[in-house]
Amino acid sequence: MSEEVWQEELAGAIQDMGQLQQCCSLTEDELAWSAAAETLQGSGTLRVRIPRRYLSLIDQSALRADPIRLQVIPTIEEFHELPCESSDPLAEDSWHVTPRLIRRYKSRAVFLATDMCAMYCRHCFRRRFAGKEEGPASIQETAAAANALGALPEVRELLISGGDPLTMSDALLHEMISTFQRVRPDMVIRIGTRVPVTLPSRITGELADLLHSLSRRAPVYLMTQFNHPRELDHAARTALMRLSDAGIPLFNQTVLLKGVNDDVDLLEQLMNDLVAARVKPYYLFQGDLASGTSHLRTPLATGFVLEQELRRRLSGLAMPVYAVDLPQGGGKVPLVQKSLLRKEGNRYLFRSMDGQDLWYEDVDT
Ligand code: SF4
Repeated sequence: MSEEVWQEELAGAIQDMGQLQQCCSLTEDELAWSAAAETLQGSGTLRVRIPRRYLSLIDQSALRADPIRLQVIPTIEEFHELPCESSDPLAEDSWHVTPRLIRRYKSRAVFLATDMCAMYCRHCFRRRFAGKEEGPASIQETAAAANALGALPEVRELLISGGDPLTMSDALLHEMISTFQRVRPDMVIRIGTRVPVTLPSRITGELADLLHSLSRRAPVYLMTQFNHPRELDHAARTALMRLSDAGIPLFNQTVLLKGVNDDVDLLEQLMNDLVAARVKPYYLFQGDLASGTSHLRTPLATGFVLEQELRRRLSGLAMPVYAVDLPQGGGKVPLVQKSLLRKEGNRYLFRSMDGQDLWYEDVDT
C-alpha cells in the first residue's frame, strides 16, 4: 500500500464534533463538551481526531457503554479537573535537555518527534503537547537532541514518541532515526505508536522495509497501545504481522481504563490475543493523573484485584507488568501484591497465586 493511501486516510479523519455529528448521534454529555470546548478555545483542551476506520469499530447503539467510543469521543466530564491532576502529570517539562528531548531516567530518554497523532485518545497523559499543531521536529531540533545524546553515553535507549511518530512520512522518519544513529550507533531506538490500532494502513511494506534496514544498524523496537480486544481486528493483525515478519520486536502497553477494559476476562483475552499476534504484553498502566481524565481512571484497589487474577490465569509471556508512573516525575513503579510474607533464617515464606503459604529454603550465604 502506498504512502498516498494512508496519508489520504489520515487527512480524511473526523476532526471536529460537527463532522462527527454527521456520522453518529451524540449524547448530551458529548454535545456539552463540544459547546464548552468552543467557549474555551485555545485552552488546554485536547482536540478531536478520529480516523474513520476507528470510528467503524464503535457499536453506536451502545452509546457511552461502548469501550471504543469512550477512548475517542470526549464528554463534558473532561472539564471536571481534580486538584491532584495536571496537564503534565509526569512533570516531563522539568526534565527537558533540549526543547524536544526529555530525560527522566539515567539510562533512557524520550524524543518528542511530532505532536500529531492519527487519533487523539481521551485518556492521553501528554495532552499538553499532543495536537497543538507544532508539527514534526525540525532538522535543527533533531540535530540538537542527537548532539545532546552524544554527550550522554549513559543513555542506552531512546524512545521516539510524541504525538505519534508514525504519522510522519517514511522520508522524515528515516532522516530522524538516521540522525540519532549517526551520533549514537550503540543506542537502542524504541518507537511509541498507536498507529497499528488507529491507522493500520500506515504499516506499509515500505515502512516495514525501512524499519528493518534501520534496525540492522541498531535495534529498533516498536511499542504499541492496544486497550481492547476489539481493536485487534483483521487490519490491525495484518499490520502487526507485517512488522514482525520484518523482524521488528513488538511490545504493547495497555492503559487500564474504567468502562473500557477494567474486566479480568476481557484483559485475559486481550493479552492472549496480543501474544497470538506476536506482540509481548509489556505494561498494564494505571491511569496517570492527567487533567480531566478521572472518569476514565480505574481505582487502584480494582487494579490490584485484576493484577492478581491475571497473574493466576496468564503465562509469563502473556502477563504484563501492572505499573504506575508516579506524579512529579517519580518514575514507574510496579504495582504488585507482596508475595514474600516473612523470613526465618535462610527460609522464606511465600504466598502462591492460589493463596497457599509455602516455604523456600535458600542456599547458605
Ligand atoms: S496516540 Fe498517544 S500521544 Fe497521541 S493522543 Fe493517543 S495516547 Fe496521546
